[in-house]
Amino acid sequence: MKTALTIAGSDCSGGAGIQGDLKTFNAHGVYGMSVITAVTAQNTTKVSYIQGLEPITISKQLEAIFEDIKVDSIKIGMLFNKRIITAINETFKNYNLPKIVLDPVMISTTGRILLKGDAIESIVKDLFPLCNLITPNILEAGKLTDTTINNTVDMEKACRKLYELGPSNILVKGGHLKDTACDVLYDGNEFTYFDHKRIDNPNTHGTGCALSSAIAANYSKGFDTISAVKSAKDYITKAIAGGFSIGSGSGPVNHFI
Ligand code: PLP
Repeated sequence: MKTALTIAGSDCSGGAGIQGDLKTFNAHGVYGMSVITAVTAQNTTKVSYIQGLEPITISKQLEAIFEDIKVDSIKIGMLFNKRIITAINETFKNYNLPKIVLDPVMISTTGRILLKGDAIESIVKDLFPLCNLITPNILEAGKLTDTTINNTVDMEKACRKLYELGPSNILVKGGHLKDTACDVLYDGNEFTYFDHKRIDNPNTHGTGCALSSAIAANYSKGFDTISAVKSAKDYITKAIAGGFSIGSGSGPVNHFI
């Protein structure tokens, strides 16, 4: 049985974060494990409360897994603060790491800050060089490169800048672009474009989490990066098309597909 580990925040409403990641791993036939970084109180309308966990709580979870179980891939999501990132980086030094997919989550669709300002620098310095792939959307890529991204040419420029920061592959997601939903993948050499028609469904909660965990699950199964991203894009396109309403706000993407 192939395994995958998500290091991320808990979403009690079950759409994003740890819960969304585990549902995605399950749908891919990969055994999912989780290290929780923060607990959020949220529903389909808002994130109302966040408690970052103590760094030791995170190191202990990582140690428990790595000392006993073979981890075939890691997805990293919400990290919340600098102390949490430092704990992960320090603990990682003791183990052989599989491929890591990092989604640099900064803000929820409902507008809540999920990463404190001073933590961005730590993610770049401590974690980017360990990553096989990072998956920022255009807002996150813009923030990380200090640029404004409006089209695929801007996305390519951001990819080149982000590549210099250490990850082996960059996927800038174009879901927030005006005209297209094209994602741009860069491996330091070539660009690959994943163009999908925009799907008109307001129930998209957990989209970014599901995409990065689907890619990690595909890495666990031995896919190369282009195949892992292509398959994950197909998965998320169906999951968004099947997104459903469970409350008064934006409902979750659908993993029963
Ligand atoms: N909550 C948690 C714990 C998350 O990790 C994320 C995104 O990564 C969100 C909420 C936001 O999800 P969305 O913007 O898809 O609603």
